[in-house]
Amino acid sequence: MRKTVSIIVPVYNEQENIHILLQEIHSYMKPLPYQYQIVLVDDGSTDGTLAQIQLLTQGDTTLRYLSFSKNFGHQAALKAGLDVCQTDCCISMDGDMQHPPELLPVLLQHREQGNDVVYTIREESTNLPYVKRVTSNLFYDLLNGLSSIELDRGSADFRLLDKKVVQQLKQLQEYDIFFRGLVKWVGFRQIGITYQSRERTRGTSKYTLKKMIRLALQGITSFSIKPLYIATYLGFVFSLLALAFVPYVLYSYYFGKAVSGWTSTIITIAFFGGLQLMILGIIGIYLGKLFMQSKGRPLYIVQQAYLPNEA
Ligand code: UDP
Ligand code: MG
Repeated sequence: MRKTVSIIVPVYNEQENIHILLQEIHSYMKPLPYQYQIVLVDDGSTDGTLAQIQLLTQGDTTLRYLSFSKNFGHQAALKAGLDVCQTDCCISMDGDMQHPPELLPVLLQHREQGNDVVYTIREESTNLPYVKRVTSNLFYDLLNGLSSIELDRGSADFRLLDKKVVQQLKQLQEYDIFFRGLVKWVGFRQIGITYQSRERTRGTSKYTLKKMIRLALQGITSFSIKPLYIATYLGFVFSLLALAFVPYVLYSYYFGKAVSGWTSTIITIAFFGGLQLMILGIIGIYLGKLFMQSKGRPLYIVQQAYLPNEA
């Protein structure tokens, strides 16, 4: 029996890309001795993406899809794809052609060699906007510094996962999913390969600055509680500094200079006001996570699924 593989592609308003993406996937997968299926996860697209997918299923027996009731985000879409995956392995990739389909055979080849996870690392490339490169590197450095997992710079949601890894990931009930970290965290035999990211030729990036900051904060706070400790340390340091201020205050009082010092007072108030807000914010993020998790809401809602025979 031929080995089976699912290719999971989250798509959010990618109507210009789907057609060409499928074409390319087919051209690289057809020659391989695998029985493959493509699972498109429509993350609540508001353009013609879903209609186009539905149309394409008529002429393409490898195509399956899930459609969300609204936009739940890229990570939720990935989770949904994994949840329905029952093949020997799964490959996840973006729907905008930035993850080159010519890598599909390479990923499978590494699995043949006994690896359970084949992840990809985007090479520094001038194809990417400068700001994206800088912010991306900053994010990985920060995350690695703060948490106990070691993520490669430029890790992407383009990877192959063996069935046994998928099995573990399916069981996770985390509200805030950050796959790049989780996949490292589960262990098993892993290997990373590098690739050159392509330019996005059609459509626009769905990761706005707001979504990127959110993902970065999510990633950091999902894998580390160090920011909470840092807040405590900062509190200590500043209390000590404040203590050192006491002799000066007493001196000023006895020598009649008590009213001067307005500037330093204002600066201190402003500085500590900001610091306290920031630390409250950090605590708030963790509290918010607990809150969302405790409600136990599903990560996504599927309004339509097309998964003929075994999914
Ligand atoms: N995406 C999604 N839901 C979202 C945002 C993005 O499913 O809320 C999909 C998008 O269609 C694409 C992939 O996730 O297939 C990566 O998004 P994008 O290319 O916009 O991100 P970038 O490459 O700019 O980081
Ligand atoms: Mg992209």
